[in-house]
Amino acid sequence: MTNNQAFVKRDLSVLWHPCTQMKDHETLPLTPIKKGQGVWLEDFDGNRYLDAISSWWVNLFGHANPHINAALKDQLDHLEQVIFAGFSHQPALELAEQLVAITPQGLNRCFFADNGSAAVEVALKMSFHYWLNRGQTQKTRFITLENSYHGETLGALAVGNVALYKQTYAPLLMDVITVPGPDCYYREAGESWADYSTRRFALMAQTLAEQADNVCAVIVEPLVQCAGGMRMYDPVYLKLLREACDQNGVHLIADEIAVGFGRSGTLFACEQANISPDFMCLSKGLTGGYLPLAAVMTTDDVYQAFYADYQNLTAFLHSHSYTGNPIACRAGVATLEIFRQHNIIEQNKTLAQQLTNISARFHEHPHVAEVRQTGLIVAIELVKNKATREPYPWQERRGVKVYQYALSQGVLLRPLGNVIYFMPPYVITEPELQLMAQVAWDGIQQACQD
Ligand code: PMP
Repeated sequence: MTNNQAFVKRDLSVLWHPCTQMKDHETLPLTPIKKGQGVWLEDFDGNRYLDAISSWWVNLFGHANPHINAALKDQLDHLEQVIFAGFSHQPALELAEQLVAITPQGLNRCFFADNGSAAVEVALKMSFHYWLNRGQTQKTRFITLENSYHGETLGALAVGNVALYKQTYAPLLMDVITVPGPDCYYREAGESWADYSTRRFALMAQTLAEQADNVCAVIVEPLVQCAGGMRMYDPVYLKLLREACDQNGVHLIADEIAVGFGRSGTLFACEQANISPDFMCLSKGLTGGYLPLAAVMTTDDVYQAFYADYQNLTAFLHSHSYTGNPIACRAGVATLEIFRQHNIIEQNKTLAQQLTNISARFHEHPHVAEVRQTGLIVAIELVKNKATREPYPWQERRGVKVYQYALSQGVLLRPLGNVIYFMPPYVITEPELQLMAQVAWDGIQQACQD
């Protein structure tokens, strides 16, 4: 038995892994990781895997990043955790000050939570509670987009719309208003992203006009619906949405959990539409991919709606034991230092161009319907029939075949259904990009053979 096999045997006897049909592991081996360095992961038998998906989109500057490591080692000697109600500490304050400075204008308050779903729960509750404190008790509903994903706790799941995650639990979920989305995969031949996104906005405008009295907020993933298959749309949609939310007295929640911190090409995706939401949810890259932490950024107006004498009972009610964990916050501070010191957003323009270049050949593949890109996210949509865009039946699990092949060649790709995507750490080099693309190409060839 190899070291990997011995590990896996123990693992499968006690562990239950996320987003996994555990029976799959009878045929699809689990990969135990011993260590990580830069874009590489290494298993217990010494095999290496290029982390082309940034470990579920969290890692920005590589595994075992020396700068973040040093900051965390220092933090451990000072303060590992302290209750965040009635107490405070340096890493939380520094991180909050910096987030206020770098997020779009008007987002002057930072509320910490400890993962993306929790941040979405906080934003939903805060928005509802804002209207309640303002005496608007009829505002209890949320508008969401078709094909959206905001996490998998019950509130976050309710405002998402990907059937795979949602359908089973539907009886447990609050009722939301779902509007057809701006996903540009469905635009007409010759129609631009901007034209299609604008055209689709009419449906949102109509819903807002009809429902605004009962609606607290619209929640969106700015520019890229990531878990929904890396489907993309034009910034004009966000611009129109901001205007319509203002006109109708409805909050805008921007879930930048996946697209924030440079993924979209700008530090935050909202910048591309030149808008500022009422709530911005951040997580994933916030700690450089080191530790679970989330932040909900909001406005003075929202904050003031809760600020009153205790007897008014208007305080926001939400608490996680690990709120503002000092080690996680310190990882966030170290991550933002890297952004500043290395001018990452500027540097990433080169990386985005390299991604465009290595993806060019996929356009011509007979089973690729579309190659799309926003910043440092490239998605390749596999279909059965290129001309009609008829999808492969999900039961055939073509994406899983690509996953298996890529692993055997030392690349971690983790397709979303039949969508293969690249979302690498920002420290990936050109030869590594070439390797990633070649393995993806060969994997697609294998998976689409019959
Ligand atoms: N929102 C978006 C847009 C996400 O992509 C995710 C995670 N994939 C979440 C929320 C949930 O974050 P978490 O997994 O940390 O709960």
